[in-house]
Amino acid sequence: MFRFELDAIDPTTQARVGRWMTPHGTVETPAFMPVGTLGTVKGLTPDMIRSTGAQQVLANTYHLALRPGAEVVQELGGLHRFMNWDGPILTDSGGFQVFSLAKLTKINDDRVVFRSHIDGSLLELSPERAVQIQEQLGADCIMCLDECPPHDVPRDRLIEAVDRTTAWALRCQQAQTRPDQALFGIVQGGTDPELRARSAAGLVPLEFPGYAIGGLSVGEAPSQMYDTLDVTVPLLPTDRPRYLMGVGRPEDLLEAVLRGVDLFDCVMPTRNGRNATAFTSRGLVKLRNSQYRTSTAPLDPACSCLACRDFSLGYLRHLFTAQEMLGPILISLHNLTFYQTLLRELRQAIRTGQSAEFRQAQLAQWRGSV
Ligand SMILES: [Zn+2]
Repeated sequence: MFRFELDAIDPTTQARVGRWMTPHGTVETPAFMPVGTLGTVKGLTPDMIRSTGAQQVLANTYHLALRPGAEVVQELGGLHRFMNWDGPILTDSGGFQVFSLAKLTKINDDRVVFRSHIDGSLLELSPERAVQIQEQLGADCIMCLDECPPHDVPRDRLIEAVDRTTAWALRCQQAQTRPDQALFGIVQGGTDPELRARSAAGLVPLEFPGYAIGGLSVGEAPSQMYDTLDVTVPLLPTDRPRYLMGVGRPEDLLEAVLRGVDLFDCVMPTRNGRNATAFTSRGLVKLRNSQYRTSTAPLDPACSCLACRDFSLGYLRHLFTAQEMLGPILISLHNLTFYQTLLRELRQAIRTGQSAEFRQAQLAQWRGSV
């Protein structure tokens, strides 16, 4: 039901192009998944998401379990029908939000107890419950419950989190009942190479159909993230998709793909879009900047999205200064188009063995930015 095929590996880097086949279609990798936290990529209809080139979207288990509830999504036909997205979907386990957003009250080897960030009600999540909720939601790819501690915790806490994540991965695997969902294991270990190795050594024998790298982009420096990828990616099976969770900036995607990562998700293109910041072929553009007040130029001449095709910079700036809802919609659409275009061109560069040159050219182009 799931297959991952590698089509090309750039011999000059570790970058690879592949196809991740799911019950709801094929994803060309490396791929970027827009984040649809509550079953909606904020402000965009499924047709608009599709028009950016996105193939697979992500939804957040924690948020959907609180509102409207996993059983409601199930009654409404599962996540694909619920949000009218007929392509592949991935849900996270909810763990990251429990550790970052909710008020944590207790964690032990059995489960984590927390208070909802919405109404303060007392809830708990165990590996079995995380899988059960994700089975009710019905995404194609689901994630094991993991413990993701802050990046600056003492080493003994990090070891505890790694070992707990490994034990929970086995319990998640044993709890899974649906054969039409691919359950991914998540490698933890912070920026400590030994702990990354310890985590991978515990998870790889479980033979998950895909592996995620968690616990990065949580406050460490970009160079620490790249160093951690250098030691972590080679520990993962070559014949399974590798998913770097919650990353990141366009330059982070380039660096990670060249180290052999296949899948990404991040709120950055949509969150920045809502905040009037656009990623363009010339670097970041802050649309509130007064220099664009009377500009008739397109936001990005290299982009063919609706925002760049039909509207001037001056008009787009006006939408934000007047707090019109079309502004966040158009720039979210543009930023997602930028990410998808970047990955499409990167896939092509990998096929022709030029991923390193592509990275250098892109970084140089963005640096000459406004
Ligand atoms: Zn555009």
